[in-house]
Amino acid sequence: MEPFARETIAQRVQSVLSAIRSAAEKAGRRPESIRLVAATKTVTVDGIREGIAAGLSILGENRVQEALPKVEALAQAPVRWHFIGHLQRRKVRSVVGMFELIHSVDSLELAQEIDRRAGDAGQSQDILLEVNIGGETTKGGFHPDGLVQLVSTMAALSHIRIKGLMAIPPPTAEPESARTHFIRLRELAEAIAAQRIPGVVMEELSMGMSNEYEIAVQEGATLVRVGSAIFGARHA
Ligand SMILES: *Cc1c(COP(=O)(O)O)cnc(C)c1O
Repeated sequence: MEPFARETIAQRVQSVLSAIRSAAEKAGRRPESIRLVAATKTVTVDGIREGIAAGLSILGENRVQEALPKVEALAQAPVRWHFIGHLQRRKVRSVVGMFELIHSVDSLELAQEIDRRAGDAGQSQDILLEVNIGGETTKGGFHPDGLVQLVSTMAALSHIRIKGLMAIPPPTAEPESARTHFIRLRELAEAIAAQRIPGVVMEELSMGMSNEYEIAVQEGATLVRVGSAIFGARHA
């Protein structure tokens, strides 16, 4: 086994947090302007507790079925939950109000369904729009072209609040190649912000995972979603 595997979750939480701080400082950004979202898919409740004890405060889950029992088991823990995976429309009703932020709204229909269900519940749901920033045919998400226009349409939905953008760049062995995608996402957010659409703020950029979160921080990420660098390689 490589030495990395023997590090504890607590040690890895500390190294990720300090890497975020130094990347921010090098880029002339305030470290507090970046929040770590721990991607906890396949991680046990005990593993998550260890991470919380070491300083994690935001947990990101991908699947509704997996998330619900964890949210319940950790109901007393001082954490907020974010939803970061593909959300099916028929699951929306069971998640509205449970997640502080849904990062992965990838279609107008999903935004409309969240708006409808949040309205039924008398709530307002914060969301990010997931952008297919690499234009991959195999991936969901909004196409960058025309998104500005679509945001105006979605802004009329009164029970969602669009807080920013999220993207997962095309997979690559070379972390540095994600940089251009991160820059494009930031520029797209700036272009949307420049429209001054009432009710739309572009204050969050959710980008960067274990392999490239430091590059994402240099390019303006406010939320980084890190899993394996904290919890180790996933087996499931
Ligand atoms: C799993 C996952 C992550 C974290 O990936 P790692 O490479 O393990 O850091 C981030 N974002 C999403 C949407 C994920 O599904």
